[in-house]
Formats: sequence, structure tokens, C-alpha cells
Amino acid sequence: MANHAIVICEHCDAVFQRPMLAPGVLARCTRCDAPLYRNRPLDLDVMLALALTALIVLVLANVFPIVTLQVSNTEREATLWGAILATYDTGVAFVALLAALTVFFFPLLQILLYLHVLLPMRWGLRTAGFRYSMHVLRAMQPWSMVEVFVLGVLVAVVKLAGMAEVTPQLGMWGFALLTVLLTLLNSFDLHQLWDIAQERCDG
Ligand SMILES: [Zn+2]
Repeated sequence: MANHAIVICEHCDAVFQRPMLAPGVLARCTRCDAPLYRNRPLDLDVMLALALTALIVLVLANVFPIVTLQVSNTEREATLWGAILATYDTGVAFVALLAALTVFFFPLLQILLYLHVLLPMRWGLRTAGFRYSMHVLRAMQPWSMVEVFVLGVLVAVVKLAGMAEVTPQLGMWGFALLTVLLTLLNSFDLHQLWDIAQERCDG
């Protein structure tokens, strides 16, 4: 378990032994002075609450319409899956698949992995496949792109504004909230989960 004992500067690639820091203290690179990491006390309850809320919000955002479009007298509701299927039907299956993966499956897997790691840990139990889960969690972080989707929808709403009356619906707020929740979850330092697992659960 040596891989979490070092830290690499993102700016100049210098490699350091991970020093023990007092809570709240920020470690800086000795070569270029860039911030390395902060010892932010990690609260498992907060992480767990964020992950559970994210799971509920993800389900709601996928079930409820994202926008309603009103052109003259016709009103249409657009859900994420309606849009993905429509994209698939127009022959760009690759785009539909990419959207389904980055907006639904990767965030879902990420949230489930967080719960899988955090739930046993919260009660001091050993997580089955902890190392594997943590590696997958780290590898998946860049592939969960709910925020890109939210930006895309906003751009589409602005573009459509002249042609149709576009009203954001619950699904839209759900994805916006999901972006915030996932950003908060991913802002926690995963190294600290390794440390907690070693202290509490690896006995
Ligand atoms: Zn540096």
C-alpha cells in the first residue's frame, strides 16, 4: 500500500513523501510552491449523506422531464432518456452511447462505489474489495460528466429561446443539483479514505 504514501506536484511533477499534516494545514511543493493538498478532516457522515442524496437526485433527474418545449399550441416534454433514444434513432448511436455513459452510468457507478466503500467504513467494518473499489473510483472521476451535460442543456435552451418557449423542469434542477453534489463528493481527498480504512478496518 505504498502508492498513497507519495504525492506528486501537479505543476512540476516533483514527487514527495506524503507528510503528516495537522488538520487544516496546506502542503506546498518545495520546488514551485504550488499547493499539493490540504489536510481537511474527512467526515464520513457528510460524505455518506452527499452520496445518498446524489443517488436519489440522480434517479429523479432521470425520471422527470428536463424541459418542456412549447411551439405554437403543441407542448412537448423532453427527458434525458427521450433525448438519448431520439439521438440513437437519428443514426448517431455513438453519441447516444457516450451521453448515456457519461451522464447516467458513470455517475451511477461512482455513487454506488462511494456507498459501497463508505457504508461499511462508517460502522468500522471491512469493505469487500476496498482497494479495487478505490482504484475504480479514482479512474472514473474524470468520466462522470454531468456538468458538461448541464452546460449543453443551458446552451440548447438559450438557442431555442427564439423559436420555442422553453421551460426548465424538475429534471433540469435535478441535474444542476447533481453537479453540485458530485463536485462536493469528488472534492474529498481519497487518500484519507485509505488512511481511515487502514486505521479502523484493516485490523
Ligand atoms: Zn511543484
